[in-house]
Amino acid sequence: MNEPPALYLTGIMRSYAQGERSLDILRGAELAIWPGEIVALVAPSGTGKSTLLHVAGLLEKPDAGEIYVGGEPTSLLDDRGRTSLRRTHIGFVYQSHHLLPEFSALENVVLPQLVAGLKQREAERRAGELLGFLGLGERLKHRPAEMSGGEQQRVALARAVANAPHVLLADEPTGNLDPETAEHVFGTLVTLVRATGLAALIATHNLSLAARMDRRLTLLDGRVVDMDEAAARQ
Ligand code: ADP
Ligand code: MG
Repeated sequence: MNEPPALYLTGIMRSYAQGERSLDILRGAELAIWPGEIVALVAPSGTGKSTLLHVAGLLEKPDAGEIYVGGEPTSLLDDRGRTSLRRTHIGFVYQSHHLLPEFSALENVVLPQLVAGLKQREAERRAGELLGFLGLGERLKHRPAEMSGGEQQRVALARAVANAPHVLLADEPTGNLDPETAEHVFGTLVTLVRATGLAALIATHNLSLAARMDRRLTLLDGRVVDMDEAAARQ
């Protein structure tokens, strides 16, 4: 199989200035994720999970290193190129849903598709299909405030994959949900990844969900390491 990784990060460095000092968060981080894989990122707060996801999602530039999306390097792209690649290839889900409160579930999933250039009718068709697939067929006209936390996160998931990205990045997507709802949302996510061949990287503190993903990664001194191997060494 000669398929390139959906996402490949290498030599990633990222520091933040803190007063006089520099906080070196990522120190040569490397990571590859293949299509159809669901990978957990489990590490204590403050170790750089969100930073890594933002860098991987082309939302934040690393100080050094390269990010390959679908085998293509991204460091030489200008802002427009990065934005366009992000829009078509990468979906993001956050801990809180960030849905637009004035818009219905359907409209929230339609909007990113219009931004990407799809026609209204086609975008609505796809949004309806996606929301139906995620078990929200009866909630299309509901606004975020009229839905439960789990439903809101499933709409956020539908929005993240509305433009059929190759990579899904999720930053503690079930962190605000009770265990049963978290379970349901995660189950939906797995079904979606298996059905589409997406590559998913999911930061989570939920060890029972992490245990059910294909691989578990953690951050150690600014590098990405296999969590099961790291545990075995200790
Ligand atoms: P995690 O998601 O694992 O909790 P983060 O990636 O959010 O960790 O943050 C890692 C470290 O970097 C933290 O100590 C945080 O305070 C710091 N940090 C994150 N973003 C910034 C920023 N924009 N400016 C300064 N420090 C930051
Ligand atoms: Mg974080």
